[in-house]
Amino acid sequence: MYFDWTIILILPGLILGLWAQARVKSTFEKYRKIHTQHGIPSQELVRQMLSRQGVVDIAISPTEGTLSDHYDPSSNTLRLSQGVYGSDSVSAIGIAAHEAGHALQKEQGYGPLVIRSVMVPAVSIGSNLAWPIFMMGIVFSWKPLMYAGIAAFAAAVVFSLITLPVEFDASRRANQMLSESGYFTQEELSGVRKVLNAAALTYVASFISTLMQLLRLILIARRRND
Ligand SMILES: [Zn+2]
Repeated sequence: MYFDWTIILILPGLILGLWAQARVKSTFEKYRKIHTQHGIPSQELVRQMLSRQGVVDIAISPTEGTLSDHYDPSSNTLRLSQGVYGSDSVSAIGIAAHEAGHALQKEQGYGPLVIRSVMVPAVSIGSNLAWPIFMMGIVFSWKPLMYAGIAAFAAAVVFSLITLPVEFDASRRANQMLSESGYFTQEELSGVRKVLNAAALTYVASFISTLMQLLRLILIARRRND
């Protein structure tokens, strides 16, 4: 960690991130206790909804952890966490439907998801090397190295930005599929929206956080110019 006054720039993102994490957890817990009247388990629900959309060759399996739900495009597998798989709660059907939304994005070649998938390898290397490269630039007082570090970090910011439409669109598809299923009451659907909106906020916080870190690197590099 590099300390100077610019460190205050990363505080808003950090605080927003912690707040969003806490909010998603509390919203998830609240709606996890509310069972839907229809009572269909989440994995069965998403299988039905996806097959209605023409997605039939998908695996749906349970996975360890809390809120570790994800769609793995490489194996075309939807992994649902404890508390979601096997549950008929408002939280469970919302999260499972959101992941099903990602599966639908893959099936339909949704642009931002394609770009995001292509970026993954480069971004994971770049974001790990950004700070070491930048710090070497400072140590050797060599600007091109500082800017190389900034460029590597900028890729992580772009990645974080492209994640936003991917996540919002998955939730939009989830709300639509759940509503069209005809299984749920308006109250249940409104609970789902609250759970998914809370989850979306964590991605917004993450984007703001990486953007502010980028701004900080640029400011540090510029001050080294004189
Ligand atoms: Zn998602």
